Parts: sequence; structure tokens; C-alpha cells
Amino acid sequence: MDVFDKCFAYTRVEETKNLGLYPYFKPFESEQGPEVAFQGRKIIMIGSNNYLGLTSDPRLKEVAIEAIKKYGTCCTGSRLLNGTLNIHEELEAKLASWLKKEAVLVFGTGFLANLGTVPTIVGRSDIVITDREDHASIIDGCRMSFGGHLKYQHNNMKDLERVLSEADPSKGKFIIADGVFSMAGDIVNLPELVKIARKHAARIMLDDAHSVGVLGQNGKGTAEHFGLTDEVDIIMGTLSKSFASTGAYIASSERVINYVKHFSRTLIFSISIPPVSTAVSLRALEIIKTEPERRERLWEITRFMLNEFKNLGFDVGQSCTPIIPVIIGDPIRTFTFAKLLLEEGIYANPVIAPAVPVDKCLIRTSYMATHKAAHLEKVLEAFRKIGKALGVI
Ligand code: PMP
Repeated sequence: MDVFDKCFAYTRVEETKNLGLYPYFKPFESEQGPEVAFQGRKIIMIGSNNYLGLTSDPRLKEVAIEAIKKYGTCCTGSRLLNGTLNIHEELEAKLASWLKKEAVLVFGTGFLANLGTVPTIVGRSDIVITDREDHASIIDGCRMSFGGHLKYQHNNMKDLERVLSEADPSKGKFIIADGVFSMAGDIVNLPELVKIARKHAARIMLDDAHSVGVLGQNGKGTAEHFGLTDEVDIIMGTLSKSFASTGAYIASSERVINYVKHFSRTLIFSISIPPVSTAVSLRALEIIKTEPERRERLWEITRFMLNEFKNLGFDVGQSCTPIIPVIIGDPIRTFTFAKLLLEEGIYANPVIAPAVPVDKCLIRTSYMATHKAAHLEKVLEAFRKIGKALGVI
């Protein structure tokens, strides 16, 4: 037995490439705006998480250059030791005050934030309870925890209640859900979740990767959207989507942040968020606070596209956010759909199992505040044409 046997036996990529359908790791040749350069031509991007369209904002580019000039390219160490800058502390203080939590801790990426926070909180005498569609980084955080792990049906609060009722009452309980689910584009039923959690003395963590900048009157995320900020014990969010940067945060009480700060292995044993990403995040926060018109435009586009896809006869599942999945069915048809979209000058993400059930493969579309009406019309026309050709509609 050779440990590499699995690598030699893995031929799916070649098979898909031979069919001319392999859709992943496509290199773009430009920044990621509503249009991107791909194989020498300009195509429309509806596969990005650049919700507020800030990745190409000249103000962010300017602070990025200034940050590199002042702080250099890297801190070469973790936050605990030599890797903390004054701007890390400034970012944490400003995020905490904006999110209306006592304290914030910033991590290198969203994946590292979940991977570091979950096992730090969930000890041997605890149980973590997750939604079946929670992000992979939460699931991996649970795998690294010494406590128990239970799952409930996607956004099904009756099932959450059942799971909690059957759980050992002597154990500490920690419920974790995505605020906006990254594939289905639906929103967690937070009011019900809070009621059930309080009944069972469970703590709550929300992953706002796709909610911050998007949901809530001021873009603060899911808790603000529902007016339940005080009820969510830990709010996690990434800086890699609406903030057009790299990094992530958790926001909570001062005691919880202090504990995670001193025990989270992905924080203590990994490089701090680079100066450039820290400075960009600080500036992006100001823009998010002062330019609500970006969020308003994003929601206008979202409502329009949801309506139009439904009118064309596509199945968009339960989506009610700028993540709009178009359910196609089997993987080959989904890859074919994505390939034909590219031929029409449109990039969208094909998603297959295990990210979604095997018969519910989908094209994940997502929108930015900077998409123009002409982009959206072109997208809809291409979906109509390909949807009819492949018998999806
Ligand atoms: N949580 C969710 C719900 C996500 O969708 C993602 C990224 N797709 C992450 C966490 C990880 O964030 P990052 O890309 O910053 O590592």
C-alpha cells in the first residue's frame, strides 16, 4: 500500500478535461470587477463575492500602497509575539464599536477564524450543534474540537429543537449557523434559533461571511437585520468579501475574546493579517459606514435578478440574498451550462457534490453593487438561451 495510491487513482479531472468540461482554477488576467479579462477577452463576472464592488476602488488601492510603504509587506510572526501592529488594534477597536460588541479579534482568514474559534470554545464537556449546510471551515472546526458534534436539518428549527432536547442536559451547548448560507443564499431563521437556544441555555455563533456589508440597515450583518445583536454570543465575519480585503473577525464579550486570543491555535501559531489587508479593511469599513447607496443598489439588483430568474422558469431554491443559485441537476449538465455561459462571455461558479446534494448541482450566481443593467440583461439572455437548449426551462 502506497499513501499516494489515492492520487494515482484520482482520474476525474482528466475525464472531465477530456470532455472539454473542466471548470475550475480558471486564471483571470485582471482585477475582479463586474467585468474581468479572461483568455484575452472581457467577460461578465457573476461568480464573485465582491458584493459592494470595492475590490477596484481607488481609495482602497491608495491606502494599500501607503500601508506597504509604512509597514512593509509582512509582520513575519503571529499576533501573540512580534506580529501585532497598531493598525491591528485600531481595526479591532473600530469593528467592535461598529458591531456593538465589547471586543473583536482579527484572524488571517475566515477559514482560520472558524477553525481557531470553534475548538477553543467547544471543550470535552461541551456539544457543538451545526446546520447541515454550514461552511466547511465550521465543520472542520468541529472536527478539531474535543466535544460532541450534532447536526440539524438545514434551517429547520423543529429539528434543532429535537436535537437539543435529545442532547445530554449536563453538557455546555454551542449552536453555530451561517447568517447567509453560502450556496443556497437563504438567511438563518435567527428569531426562532434564539428562542430555542435560550430555552436550552445554548450559546450562539453566527458566520456572517456573506452577511456583513449586505444584511442589516447599516450592513452590520444578520444580527442587525433581525435586531438581535445582544442575543448572538459570537459574530464571525470575513474581510474577504464585502470588505475587499483578506482576513476575518470574531466579535463577542471582552472575556470570550480574551480567552480565544490566548488559546486559539490558528491565531497563536500563524502569521497575523498582513499590514496591507489591515489598512484596506480599515478604509473599507469607513466606506461601508458612509456609502449605504452601495448596499441599496446591491439589493435592487438582487430583487431584479431573483424575479427575472423565476419568471424565466429557473429554480432558485430558497434564495433571498445576492447569492442566487440556479439549480441545474446532474454534474455534467451543470458543467455544460457553465461552459456555454463562458462561450456567451459570462463567468459563474458551477457547484457539485459534496458542496450540494448530487442531484441538485447548481450554477451559483452572485452580484455586486457595481453591476450595470446591461450586464444583467446579457446574463439573463444567456441563461434563457442555454436553459432552453439544455432543457432546464
Ligand atoms: N465562512 C463562510 C460562510 C464562507 O463562505 C467562507 C468563504 N467562502 C468562509 C467562512 C471562509 O472565509 P475566507 O475566504 O476569508 O477564508
